Parts: sequence; C-alpha cells; structure tokens
Amino acid sequence: MDDATRRQFLEATLLSAAALDSCSSSASVSAPRTMQRKDFEPAYLRLERTGELAKRAQELYSIYRACRLCPRACGVNRLKGEKGVCSSTSRAKVYSSHPHFGEERPLVGRGGSGTIFFSNCNLLCVFCQNWEINHRGDGSYVSDDQIGRLMIDLQGIGCRNINLVTPTHIVPNIVQGLRSAVARGLRIPIVYNCGGYEPVEILKLLDGIVDIYLPDYKYTDGRMSEKYSSGARDYPEVAAVAIEEMHRQVEELVVDENGVALRGLIIRHLVLPQNIAGTDKFVRFVANKLTPSTYVNIMAQYRPEHLAHKYPELSRRLTRTEYQQALGWARAAGLTRITGD
Ligand code: SF4
Repeated sequence: MDDATRRQFLEATLLSAAALDSCSSSASVSAPRTMQRKDFEPAYLRLERTGELAKRAQELYSIYRACRLCPRACGVNRLKGEKGVCSSTSRAKVYSSHPHFGEERPLVGRGGSGTIFFSNCNLLCVFCQNWEINHRGDGSYVSDDQIGRLMIDLQGIGCRNINLVTPTHIVPNIVQGLRSAVARGLRIPIVYNCGGYEPVEILKLLDGIVDIYLPDYKYTDGRMSEKYSSGARDYPEVAAVAIEEMHRQVEELVVDENGVALRGLIIRHLVLPQNIAGTDKFVRFVANKLTPSTYVNIMAQYRPEHLAHKYPELSRRLTRTEYQQALGWARAAGLTRITGD
C-alpha cells in the first residue's frame, strides 16, 4: 500500500470508528501545544556549548568496550571488532539518507523528515519490514564525521528534523557525528526513532540531546516478544520503563506555528493480527503511566514480511475489524491524541 492509499484507508477507518463510538466526540486528535519556531533551540546546542556533548560522546564510546548499549548486554568489545546480537562493530553503517514524506504528519512538514537509516538492529523481529537493512545489514560503512555531513545535507535541502532510524546499537557514533554537524551549523530537532528496547542508563545519556523521541511499543506480553523478536522476553517491561523515561525528558508533543514537531514524544504501536501486540494493554499503559493526551500512532499497515510466513498467525494482513477494535480500546482508555499516520 503506498502512503496515499494507506492514509485514505486509515482516514476512512478512523472516521467510521469515531462514528460508531457513541461515547466519543468526532475528534480523535486533540491539538498539541505550540511554540514559535523562532523561539526554539534544539537541546543539543546548549550541551555542545558547555562541553557536555563531548563528554557524553566519550562516555557512550567507552560502553563499546563491553557493550550494554541495549538490554541484551552482550558484553562484547566492539572497539576490537567483536559483534553481539546486532552484528555491529564500533563502525556505523548507513543504508540511506533522504527526506521522508511518509512519517507522522508533525514530522514531515513541507520539507520532509530527514531520515538516516542505520543498518542492523538490536531487536530482529521475524516480521521486519526492512529486513534487508536490519537483518542482512545492507548499507555502507561511514565515519562519524560523515554522519554529521549527512545531517547537514538533510538540513540544507529543507528537512524539518534529523530522523535517526534504528539508532540504539550505534548511538556513540551518532552523538559524535552530531558534534561535527553542530560545528557546521545544524539546528533542527533530533528524532530518536527506535524500537523501544532501550536501557534507561543509556537514555539518561541522551537527556538534552534528543528533542523528539519516536519509540515503538511492540508487545505487552513477554511470550510474544520472546517468540517474534529474537528472545527479547523482557521487552514489555523494558520498553515501558524506557518510554516513561523518554516522557520525563521531553514530555508531550510541541509543534511550531505550522504544526511541525519541535519537541516531545510520539509512540508508535503496530497492531498485529489476533492482538499479538496486546493493544488493549498498551493503550491502558499510555493512559495510566503517561498522559491520555500523549501522541500515539496506532498503525494498521502490518503485512507479512521476512520470516512471518513461518508463523500462521502472522501470515496475513490486519482486518478492518481488528483495527477498529484497536481504536475502540484506545478511546475507551481515554486517549485523545490518536493518529493512524
Ligand atoms: S547494542 Fe548490539 S552488541 Fe550491544 S548489547 Fe545490544 S545487541 Fe549486544
């Protein structure tokens, strides 16, 4: 499904679900807070001025010696070329870098979201939709300075933010690359577009660096994450604590006068067939542990990819009924900022 067709399907489904739900108003999305873009300064600029960004980059690099950048805590020395579950050394690999117009509306604006797709991944889901990049590791090695140049190029062609896709396993290189971008004049928000499988220890080192967190919350049942995401049994608990920390750091979404995101949290949740993702529990988590007005993208675009055909329950697309049920749970939980971008 292309972006336009997907949006039409989602808009029709959102509207029909709203019409069916007599308890809700017709609006699924309440307006986020706004601030003038001219008054906005990305958080990382202050850290660079104080020397803190350099310290953070150094500290993150030191973790490569016995890697615990993600909860798998492989303990390998990536500076010596050893590889853990994510199959990555201490050199970053990039698959592509370009403006993306299919991301959530507040991230896109007129210039697009400046995505940098990093190769490999720490979660390795069986239904991965980018398996050539995340599992097979397609891409080219880049220096940290080249990462910074990519950021500057994206800003130069009008992108509204730098959208780091699958950054967790390579975050020391990204922060060092950010320093080189800052020296060249970067000043658009940094988006941390991750799978949600993040240790709080590492997120604390990103406090004041990331402007917009864009995590997935993939499952609420550890048996599902164990089965479908390479044994990550602790995913639900880890992701919940991680997202609470992200929310503490950046709070709710703030947009500029054109509705383009400057700061805040957007959570993505891919609805899976047979409620494998645990959507009912997920929306209650958001309402109870964060705030009902947290910006949540409840995604309908699941399609069987990569190894999904080996699992009969994952071998089909989502039905409209399943998606409407997911939206109904979100409304029943009291969520007020739901989108299906
Ligand atoms: S980032 Fe990679 S090597 Fe490091 S703990 Fe996670 S999976 Fe293991």
